[in-house]
Amino acid sequence: GGKIIITDEMPEGYGGEGFFATTLDQVVGWGRKNSLWPMPFATSCCGIEFMATSASHYDIGRFGSERFAHTPRQCDLLLVMGTIAKKMGPIVKQVYLQMSEPRWVIAVGACASSGGIFDTYSVLQGIDQIIPVDVYVPGCPPRPEAILDGLMKCQDLVGQESLRRRNSDRYKALLNSYGIE
Ligand code: SF4
Repeated sequence: GGKIIITDEMPEGYGGEGFFATTLDQVVGWGRKNSLWPMPFATSCCGIEFMATSASHYDIGRFGSERFAHTPRQCDLLLVMGTIAKKMGPIVKQVYLQMSEPRWVIAVGACASSGGIFDTYSVLQGIDQIIPVDVYVPGCPPRPEAILDGLMKCQDLVGQESLRRRNSDRYKALLNSYGIE
């Protein structure tokens, strides 16, 4: 464990990990990872697999993620499932921008991850060309187990998220590389 350091400069002058920051990180991370609210953005076949993932047999509710709001402002996990035409790209990006921070993104299936079999002029060759992606789920389509595996991988990231990472220069540089302020 670390120790609590309180100075007049906190938090700006505080550079290291301490008990307060690490423990609060863990508590907030635990809460967040077990209550991710998905924003399903489904355009084609992979979306059908997600329907199965959310139904009783695979039961995504076991992971605290059964609450689909279908409004970006109430969601913190964007699931992009299906072929994304280049014309659709700005819409995906707008949905992402309308979500509150902190937010995470899973590219579900080959199309969302890389364009899949549609190596053609009209299809976006992966949503990471327009927004940052946290987890890629392979498959055409991925089975519900694979989607749940991707969700669990994302939960790992969320649970380890530092409260200060989102304000870090590195994270801002990542967003800036996508033209996001
Ligand atoms: Fe359909 Fe395969 Fe693309 Fe998924 S990855 S949307 S199953 S073509």
